[in-house]
Amino acid sequence: MNLTSSIPFRKIRESRKDTNSIAQPVFGSSISDHMFICQYKHGQWLEPAIIPFGNLSISPAALALHYGQSVFEGMKAFPGVDGRIRIFRMEQHYRRFKRSLERMCMPAPDFDLFQNALTELVRTDIDWVPAITGGSLYIRPFMFASEGRFGVKVSDEYHFVVFTGPVPALFAKPIRVKVETDYIRAAPGGTGFAKCAGNYGAAFLPTQLAREQGYDQVIWTSGGTDPMIEESGVMNIMFVVNDTLITPALSDTILAGVTRDSLLHIARSRGWQVEERAVAVDELATWLKNGQLQEAFGAGTAAVVAPIGCIAIDGVDYELPLAEGQSYMMQLKAEMAAIRSGAVPDRFNWNHLV
Ligand SMILES: *Cc1c(COP(=O)(O)O)cnc(C)c1O
Repeated sequence: MNLTSSIPFRKIRESRKDTNSIAQPVFGSSISDHMFICQYKHGQWLEPAIIPFGNLSISPAALALHYGQSVFEGMKAFPGVDGRIRIFRMEQHYRRFKRSLERMCMPAPDFDLFQNALTELVRTDIDWVPAITGGSLYIRPFMFASEGRFGVKVSDEYHFVVFTGPVPALFAKPIRVKVETDYIRAAPGGTGFAKCAGNYGAAFLPTQLAREQGYDQVIWTSGGTDPMIEESGVMNIMFVVNDTLITPALSDTILAGVTRDSLLHIARSRGWQVEERAVAVDELATWLKNGQLQEAFGAGTAAVVAPIGCIAIDGVDYELPLAEGQSYMMQLKAEMAAIRSGAVPDRFNWNHLV
């Protein structure tokens, strides 16, 4: 916070900004003018810089490309009702970044470097923050092994890079999901809790097969003979049964979503019944067969809440009622939006003013 403008800066010659892509951004398609970059070599961080967004030059032998030492984060900066920009839960994202890096044997930048990188970069490209309601500037910090050599080893060199891009509010229409029991995303002792690149590459095939069968996403399970529910695609999953908000308890096979954590905080502070516990596929099937499942939704940074309209188990589709304005998920989503825009007091101290 105090180290503002400590990062050397080279400005883009001509902005690539066009008002359309900021007023009506398409998720993931437009990237702001600048990026932050800092290399790690000889056991230390070199001088950081903010430079025009552009290609990096790396060795084809860069270890990340072969052995997967690569970790990312994703968070957002929101325009406020007072005209100020707020980065949501940066510290929580940093802590998860650090945990992911540790699992992948990668050095973590310290919090000051991380915070300055994000704050300065968002300030630099503040004109890229969409002014539309619900729109935001997506922030993508990531780090990868850039040492070029071809033996399997822990890299001695890394690139820590951050770029941003305007994204719209995702007014997600209810998704159709399939409980996946043939493939698993994560195994006990593995890397499921880390936001490391390999987890996503491995998830593409099952997701693609589910799409071919008419579903938008899979619900990941632990597999085996008594499978437990884990996540929904790249979101955490939540259910409402008997007016209780239920979500699988965190473990090393579940990614600790910041959205999940935020929704649980809000729900508990409202005095709602909340359970973090194991949910067996059999239990979910029973809820669906008995019509007990009031709501099911994914929780993640992209959509905050993604209503689930249909769940398939063993080839049987169960339709769920439409989520109304007074549903638990929509109330949670509304309060998240209000906190992030500064419309209501930041009672959990989640916003970092840019
Ligand atoms: C990023 C991610 C989530 C959601 O995390 P948020 O911090 O809420 O965006 C959930 N599951 C997986 C596998 C993820 O990669």
